[in-house]
Amino acid sequence: MELITILNHCHRHRGFVYQQARFGGDKKSIEVDVRPREGSAAVCSGCHQPAPGYDHLPQRCFEFIPLWGFLVFLRYRMRRVDCRNCGVVVEEVPWGDGKHQLARAYMLFLARWARKLSWKETAEAFHTSWDQVCDAVEYVVGWGLEHRTLESIRAIGVDEIQYAKGHKYLTLVYQIDQGLTRLLWVGKERTIESFQGFFTVIGEQLAAQIEFVCSDMWQPYLDVIRERCSQALHILDRFHIVAKMNKALDDVRAAESRQMAQDGYPPLLKKSRWCVLKREENLTSQQKFRLRDLLRYNLQTVRAYLLKEDFQQFWEYNSPTWAGMFLDFWCQQTLRSRIAPMKKIARTLRAHRELLLNYFKARKQISSGVVEGLNNKAKVTMRRSYGLSLIHI
Ligand SMILES: [Zn+2]
Repeated sequence: MELITILNHCHRHRGFVYQQARFGGDKKSIEVDVRPREGSAAVCSGCHQPAPGYDHLPQRCFEFIPLWGFLVFLRYRMRRVDCRNCGVVVEEVPWGDGKHQLARAYMLFLARWARKLSWKETAEAFHTSWDQVCDAVEYVVGWGLEHRTLESIRAIGVDEIQYAKGHKYLTLVYQIDQGLTRLLWVGKERTIESFQGFFTVIGEQLAAQIEFVCSDMWQPYLDVIRERCSQALHILDRFHIVAKMNKALDDVRAAESRQMAQDGYPPLLKKSRWCVLKREENLTSQQKFRLRDLLRYNLQTVRAYLLKEDFQQFWEYNSPTWAGMFLDFWCQQTLRSRIAPMKKIARTLRAHRELLLNYFKARKQISSGVVEGLNNKAKVTMRRSYGLSLIHI
């Protein structure tokens, strides 16, 4: 049985034929030439109607599902058509589109695996990159959003993830309704424009029904939510705030530890990292002993630690009024602390006072799962469910 026969069996497209298959130059890949079927007209990618041909573009490769350890590429010269409605545009091909390097079938294949494995594991398993897997998921989620009717969405969460060693960002939007959490949308970058893309896709009517939005303190997100979802109660993600505070504390500790070593003091802060970062109830008995020892000294790290611990109380209030008074008092104290990273946190919290207090309003109205928002574990689970039961090649 030949490769072409198999392809014709599982990936046949009217109007196109597989011409021949051969090894690539490195013998690690298989290249399959595709050409238009004799006499079949190209289809305009603008209006999806047949149109007269105009010219050919240079050959390009679409990466297809790998086979027996070989990468597989479909090679094709895209035609341009001279369409009556759209002018000169590139043709539409059923196995892919101009924006994606991967063939549609391969994107669906990767996205399906990314529901079982993490994006990183999927990339490793199929010898492709994280970016490609992400691209595939973005494509499938976007396709799903266009092809399903979304019933009402009550609560959404928006979050950014970093990739390419922290140089690039993605914006992810999750539905975080009780009993229905899933990845709704993926967008490149974390700008105002990218996040607005989500609201454009769902349309004004659906956006108007959203009651709760959970986000971090990233300003472009805050701006878009205020503009496109003004009726919703906007909550700041608690886990994000806790993480920010831990980061500040860690900076204080690292800087002070370095300074002490430089000034020739005994290494009091050595191996203290987890003693101050973990919640006290999670410490091992040895770490507890270290912490008790540390607390005897008047160090910046110790004072920052006490401020952080003190802030935990904030989340336990029931009344927004009392929580507000506590927040004001905490910020005031922290701003007097002369510990720069902690002061910075206090200024940020103060600037977002109203959004922070929405946490308490929301807690009275909806399930705690939604209010707790986007903790890391929940995010990973949500990333794997696109709410699409039908993914067919
Ligand atoms: Zn057209």
